[in-house]
Amino acid sequence: MKNLLDVELQKIEKSLWKISKEMYENPELGDQEFESMNLLVTLLKEHEFQTEIGIVGRPTAFKSVFNSGKPGPTIAYLAEYDALPGIGHGCGHNLIGTMSVGAGIILSKIINKIGGSIVVLGTPAEETNGAKVPMSKKGIFDDIDVAMIVHPSDQSYISGDSLAMDAIQFAYTGKSSHASASPEEGINALDGVIQLFNGINALREHLPSDVRIHGIISEGGKAANVVPDFAVGQFYIRAKQRAYLDKVVEKVISIAQGAALMTGTTVEISNYELSYDDMITNQVLSDCFTNNLQQTSKLPINEAKQTYGSIDMGNVSHVVPAIHPYIGLNKPGLIAHTKEFAAQTTTEDGYETLKTGALALAYTGYDVLTDKKLLESIQQEFQRNK
Ligand SMILES: [Zn+2]
Ligand SMILES: [Zn+2]
Repeated sequence: MKNLLDVELQKIEKSLWKISKEMYENPELGDQEFESMNLLVTLLKEHEFQTEIGIVGRPTAFKSVFNSGKPGPTIAYLAEYDALPGIGHGCGHNLIGTMSVGAGIILSKIINKIGGSIVVLGTPAEETNGAKVPMSKKGIFDDIDVAMIVHPSDQSYISGDSLAMDAIQFAYTGKSSHASASPEEGINALDGVIQLFNGINALREHLPSDVRIHGIISEGGKAANVVPDFAVGQFYIRAKQRAYLDKVVEKVISIAQGAALMTGTTVEISNYELSYDDMITNQVLSDCFTNNLQQTSKLPINEAKQTYGSIDMGNVSHVVPAIHPYIGLNKPGLIAHTKEFAAQTTTEDGYETLKTGALALAYTGYDVLTDKKLLESIQQEFQRNK
């Protein structure tokens, strides 16, 4: 029956390709991806998916459901479609969106024979304020059994891990005065931020090497002859696991408070972007996907990459068994977040990636829907990791 999926793909592959190219021509930033969302949602509606737009309070998020009407598991395919400022689809999310939508549609064509449901989730703003975070918190995955997404890359890689991340802002308030005529009247907010940097740099010596702390001074005063009464440092703090990251963040917050104390300033601490959890790959689901990708794609599949990035799929992987593998664009060494990467998504290789990725996702969905033992071991592994 799996072969029927190949036939179904042939019927829609040109439509998917056209959408991917239109997204490339008209890249939209996170939470503004209205046209991109419309292209995907229109195709899903044509294929009788019940679609709700604007879920979890995000205008460009959507949930599209195809229910066979027969009992069975629910498979979720996650679609991203946000681009990067000045670079366009340098992360290849035009292919992510079309691969996931394609997989959902072709699997829906045979699901009446096997039972279960398919959900395609449109997840905006992966590059900035990932909508998968509120989706994970607000129960969108409660009735879903597995969640899958596949990301384009230079080569194919098995689903691996990613760092947990908090984006924290430290806003120091002091008192302005003439920096030369009456410095003794001033309280320097910039000194608070500088001491925060110094304290963090001292902390680094005593952190494991997977921890990353990197920041900027986003406000540091207006003129050198005025004591700055307001200064802001923004940081990303990351670690391999959420539990350890929470400990590091606690230490950084103590440093920030110490910096306020020693400079006589006050500090306000807040999260300026959503927090991402570490990615926990479900190995059983991942093995199933890898086997299927080996059938659909001729490219070699490498071991999981050692990455120091953070993805909002991490949050999903904490609430439902999930994978986030990489699929090759047949250009080893190609670097993400570049115009070259974006251009590669529009080549023959990009077309091949779209087709083989959508098919491997659909095959894997088929396996989960039809093999009870497979789903049981996926769920057992998920419970063990909890
Ligand atoms: Zn990216
Ligand atoms: Zn990406």
